[in-house]
Parts: sequence; C-alpha cells; structure tokens
Amino acid sequence: MTSPLVPASPMISPRPVGHSLLQIVPSAACLRCDVCCRFPEKDSFLRPFFTADEIQGAVAAGLAPELFPSPDGTQINLVPNPSGEGYICPAFDSTTSQCRVYDVRPLDCRLYPFALMWDRAHTQVVLGWDTKCPYMRDASSSLVEQAAEAVAQWIEQDNSVATLAQYPRLIGRFQDDVIVLRALVRVTERVQAGKSSVHTEALGLQDRGRLEAALAASAGYQGTPLAAASFAYHYVWRHRLTYLWAELHGHLCLFAESPDGLFMVLPPLGEGPLAQPLEAAFRFMRERNGDSSVTRMENVPEAYVAELRAFGYEVIGKEPDYLYAAADLADLAGEAYRSPRAACNRFMREQGGVLEPYDLRDRTACLSLFQEWREQKQRAGSDDWAEALLEDAAGAHETALSAGFELGLTGAVVRVAGRIRAYTMGVWLNPSVFCVLLEVADRDIVGLGPFVFREFCRQARAKGACWINTMDDSGLPSLARAKHWYHPARLLPNYVVTEFRR
Ligand code: SF4
Repeated sequence: MTSPLVPASPMISPRPVGHSLLQIVPSAACLRCDVCCRFPEKDSFLRPFFTADEIQGAVAAGLAPELFPSPDGTQINLVPNPSGEGYICPAFDSTTSQCRVYDVRPLDCRLYPFALMWDRAHTQVVLGWDTKCPYMRDASSSLVEQAAEAVAQWIEQDNSVATLAQYPRLIGRFQDDVIVLRALVRVTERVQAGKSSVHTEALGLQDRGRLEAALAASAGYQGTPLAAASFAYHYVWRHRLTYLWAELHGHLCLFAESPDGLFMVLPPLGEGPLAQPLEAAFRFMRERNGDSSVTRMENVPEAYVAELRAFGYEVIGKEPDYLYAAADLADLAGEAYRSPRAACNRFMREQGGVLEPYDLRDRTACLSLFQEWREQKQRAGSDDWAEALLEDAAGAHETALSAGFELGLTGAVVRVAGRIRAYTMGVWLNPSVFCVLLEVADRDIVGLGPFVFREFCRQARAKGACWINTMDDSGLPSLARAKHWYHPARLLPNYVVTEFRR
C-alpha cells in the first residue's frame, strides 16, 4: 500500500507522530516530492486502505462518505489528478501538496515509506521500505535501520497485531521494489492462525499440458466451451495478473492475483464433484482477501449453474461468448452475410492479398501495426473503458506474438503492398471449436478486417472446425455490433460465482 503526507514540521531524524508511530521523512522532503498520494491508475493497488475507525475519522475531517466503497474498511476511491496525469487520493490537496486529513490519516499512510507486505511465497509478513520514496533512497542505512526497528516493534505489539488480524488487506502483496527489512513474526502467526495451508505454484508455460488435461477432464467444458477454457486465454494477461495454481481435493484450481486480491479465473478443473474443491478454494480466497468483494470465481459455464446454486453460491451472468457456425463464417453466403461479403470482395478487388502463416520474424511488424491500429481507434473516438482495454491489450498481444508457439496458438498475417497490414491469432478449444483470440487490421484499408476474419475462419474450417468462438464483447456496444454483424449461432452464457454475503 502507500503513502504519507506531509508532517507538520521539518525534522531529520525519526520522530513520533500520531499513535506513537515513527515518521522518518521530513516535511520539507515530502513537499518537494511528487510520488506520494498520486497514482497512475484509478484502481491502483497502492491506494490507501482505511479501517472502519479511520473512515469515520476521515469523514469527520471532511472527506465524503461516498469515497469509501464499504464503511467496514476499504481502499479509498481515487479521483482524477487536476494536472490531468493519473489519479490522486481525494484527501490530497494538489495546490499545497498536503494531506487534508493528515492528523487522522490511515495507518497505511502513517507507515509509509515503510510498507507491510507478504514475502514472495506469501508465507511471511515482512516490513520493507519502498524504493519509490526518493528520500529513503538517499537516507543513511543507520537512520533507516533505526526507524525500521522502531516501526517493527510498534507493529508487533498487541494492538497493532489485532488491527492487522482484523484487516489483513493492510498487508500488501509482494512488491519487487520494496526492500525487505525484517520478518514480522507475531503478525504472521496471528494472521495465519487457523488458516488452511494451500500450496500454490506460479503458473508457467510448463503448466500448459497440466491445465489442458484438467480442462479436457472437466464436464463443464465439453462440446462448445467458453473461450476461457484454454491456457493461452489466461496466460497472455500475465502482465496484469499473477497466476497461481493449486491442487485442491484432486482438482486443479487456477487463481489470479489482481491489485485488489485473489480470485479464481475458472471453476475447479477435473473429474468429480465440485463441492469440496470449491469450499477449499473459497476459504483460501477469503483468508487471503478478508471480506473483500474480489473473492469470486469467473468463467463458469452454464453446465455448472444448477449445481452451484444448489450448493448455495450466488451465480450472476456476465457477457456471453459469441459462437458461430464455422461454415457460415467461411462461406459468408446468403442475404444475411451480404455486407461482410461485399467488404471482402472490395478488399480483394482493390488491394489483393492472401492469408499467410504468422512467423516469429513478423513480430516487430505486428507490434508496430498494433500501435497504429490503437491510434486509429483513438482518433475514431474510443471511450475510457475501451481505451483502458486497448492499453491492457498491448501486453496481451506482445505475449501472444512472442510466445505463440509455446502457447499453442495459430497465427496469420495479411500483407498489402509487401507490408503486414493485419494479423490474427487463435487457439483450438477442442478438435471442433476454434477460438479467435485477437485480430488487428489497418482500419484505413476498406474490407481488410472482414477479409482476415473470413480467411482465418476458412482455414480453421478446413482443419476441422465446426464452430468458431470469438469471446465476449467486453460490454462495448461497438464490439457487440461487430460481432452481431456475423450472426452468431449462439451466445454461450458465462457466469461469475460468489458466496452469499452473510
Ligand atoms: S490520506 Fe493523506 S497521506 Fe494518505 S494518500 Fe491520502 S492524501 Fe496522502
């Protein structure tokens, strides 16, 4: 978590501030700095966490209650930075660089530039210092050591340990740029007490076979599965999420660590009843996330819904996947497909071009096309949500284009006048269902998008595909319109599952 701001008077040595916690950074240094209390993303995992008491104090000091999604303890909602760059804590006064609720700022901020976090293996709570703080980078090691010792002692006392046990989200996830100073033994014992011991492994390319075998054995992903029933679908997002897997009651459970906590990206995979692995997985997430609403299971297919509701879980629909008959997309025959067929014909008439297999040597040209395509979309006027998706997508495309072979992807490009002007990639969900995972086409070339899509589907059909899955529409009306243009044969329901809140 993060941030201080700004002590009342300059001092060079550590000194006590509210609640006997030492503050090491002098106010003059804080006022010169532009790190704390500002955040690049609206949902930054570093935005400060307020306990229930701290929320009451901050509201009494003038912050609006609506800034806190839950009165029982939560991270505060950030607001746009008036400078136009990123976001700030709403308590931050950007004209004076001071905290408007300084006297009652939360523990999270009082600790900074020290930070509480889990070690890399998530087994031990540690105290560290954040290398993002310029003052700490220049501070003498004896000063840092002295302050760290005082902070560690303060944290390991009964009241602080009890607070951390009540609000485990005050303990952040491991960060590479936080230097670990010491283990917090009492805090670790207390927050780990009574917890299940779940051994997790980081998901790597070597786990593809394991995941695919588990998917193949899962009743809910037979027939025409959701696009999420593939290794590549998840792995390409590893720049945004840390994936972990665990074996629970003979099922493979795949989790993702997001800025807000841990959630499951698929139901427990494997043969047999879901009740036990589900219970263990939700318990594990609860232990890691506290009562955060991040605890959930995503990409649950229709086949599991009745069973999950019978177990007492809450099951809510989200955007469905679009499923097409491969023959429809390959032929584009009849009145219903007149427009996409005309677009393909126009491209062939005006530009020519053929679909060629993607080769790793095409990677740089494809990445540069992605940037052009993104700018074209921005110029066409995409909203904030669409823009955020595009920003996220850049990393996914880079991974797919770099590790396509290891991920089991099939890729293709289209050259126009010798230059790559479109690329696409997909994955087989089973021998009869092919999923188109990504597609980029120069928007200034009329008909190129429909052409690359049709040719890619033709290729899949020739290799045995009966069905083409093009994933969901992310709630974007323009994407939904584009997907409906091709007349889906079915929309595959997709659900999010949570525990009922007591
Ligand atoms: S509460 Fe105050 S110190 Fe903490 S992030 Fe907000 S402005 Fe900064």
